[in-house]
Amino acid sequence: MPTPTRKPSRPKGQGQWALGHREPLNKNEQSKKDDNPLNVRQRIEGVYAHRGFDSIDPADLRGRFRWWGLYTQRKPGIAGGKTGILEEEELDDKFFMMRVRMDGGQLNLAQLRTIAGISKEFGRDTADVTDRENVQYHWIRVEDVPEIWRRLEAVGLDTQEACGDCPRVIMGSPVAGVSTEEVIDPTPQIQEIYDRFIGDKSLSNLPRKFKSTIGWLPDSPYEVNDISLIGAHHPEHGPGFDLYVGGGLSTNPMFAPRLGVWVSQDDIVEVWVNVVRIFRDWGYRRLRTRARLKFLVKDWGAEKFREVLESDAYLGRKLPDLEQPPVPEKLLDHIGVHKQTDGKYYIGVAPVVGRVSGTILDQLADIAEKYGSDRVRATPLQKLLLLDVPEDKVRDAVVDLRAIGLEAEPSNWRRATMACTGIQFCKLAIVDTKDRARDLVEELEKRVPELDVPISIHVNGCPNACARTQTADIGLKGQLVTDEAGDQVEGFQVHLGGGHASAASLGRKSRGLKVASADLGDYVERLTRRYLTARSEGETFAQ
Ligand code: SF4
Repeated sequence: MPTPTRKPSRPKGQGQWALGHREPLNKNEQSKKDDNPLNVRQRIEGVYAHRGFDSIDPADLRGRFRWWGLYTQRKPGIAGGKTGILEEEELDDKFFMMRVRMDGGQLNLAQLRTIAGISKEFGRDTADVTDRENVQYHWIRVEDVPEIWRRLEAVGLDTQEACGDCPRVIMGSPVAGVSTEEVIDPTPQIQEIYDRFIGDKSLSNLPRKFKSTIGWLPDSPYEVNDISLIGAHHPEHGPGFDLYVGGGLSTNPMFAPRLGVWVSQDDIVEVWVNVVRIFRDWGYRRLRTRARLKFLVKDWGAEKFREVLESDAYLGRKLPDLEQPPVPEKLLDHIGVHKQTDGKYYIGVAPVVGRVSGTILDQLADIAEKYGSDRVRATPLQKLLLLDVPEDKVRDAVVDLRAIGLEAEPSNWRRATMACTGIQFCKLAIVDTKDRARDLVEELEKRVPELDVPISIHVNGCPNACARTQTADIGLKGQLVTDEAGDQVEGFQVHLGGGHASAASLGRKSRGLKVASADLGDYVERLTRRYLTARSEGETFAQ
């Protein structure tokens, strides 16, 4: 009998819409196809806020709520490492983390007071400044969400597309418009992107999240965003922006390559939206783990991505070539006192690992008012800036800020340590981060007070690297480790020698380099003493 011949199976593809793969290939894609996630707002306002947490459709709760900046938070008391063992509902608390987007990191006083008031009234006084210029609340009840939106929107803020597979907050330079080193302030373009495209349903179903940063100065981690535009001079065209596309960290860290094009200030918005459209059309949708833009850029290469961007289907014209501009020396954190273009001063302060509260933000608003300022900024390094302080008031303002825990002259430990949300609230976390990082800073300030340069320590609760594990001098990735007694305890995989700008590199991970959380102080002290003793002049920790 002849052997039956099997029809050759159609290659599965990556679920790219541009190649006709419109049938959802996983449950996330199905959920987005079933109903545009932005529509969940009507159900929150019309149904869930009245009927309470238990009335929420699971597809909305664990999917579409994100498009409005809402994630369920982790139920207290569940140990790390349970993700994947427990069903998601067993990890869910009946409260939410809510993320407020602050495009460009800019806040006026009315906005700051509103954020503070919401924190105190609805969020048990929680308010974390994130490393993407957002503020995050915890303990939010679904019943209070419509009122929170009403208050935020009354002052021009919202939570729309703060999470989810869509364009997240557009980060900008925290000193845009006031820095003496800035040549172009792209704040109007950030605002235009926000006004025209945030909430645009044609861009609200992307393969995964899309992270942007646009600013003249190197004060945002431009190597690890989906799109970055950073200031650059063109020999003929003058000042404009250098375009990077397809960076990201998490479990497959990649630095974004330059496309080698010069983008004028007038072209920022069109270039931005066309990069988003390419991602929407060509991004991989079959596997969530390969759905970020970085995988497409890696497979295509910068040259092909540029060709597609300039093709008639997208931008429809060529952009001027741009040779590699000088690489910035370092990522600026703006801590301390700095003169503005108008002769006033801005003061950069360091809360410990971005943790503040509604009370502190309210006190910050009082201080701003006292010194005649209407402007506060958040930075991508979990720091805050108070703008527009008159020269003769700077010292008093620094003292007042110190009194509320916002330090303009922090130790190098405090200055360069960041932490993600961690096990206190995040369902994916394996270990505690915020409290551990705060204790570590205090410990190191006592043990190695002589540290004279910042050594960045980024504490992350799991491999997702929300606090950028791989671009720190000492990057810590939470996991369970085995201690000397053979017990499984909270600890970290260590990545060493990561950095940005002229020190751009992904931290080296050595298999054996794991440290129990309780031993972190000893470990960092040992490493630092070795560096301080052996360094040659000007040698950084990463070298
Ligand atoms: Fe949560 Fe992990 Fe991100 Fe930390 S790195 S906030 S633990 S997902």
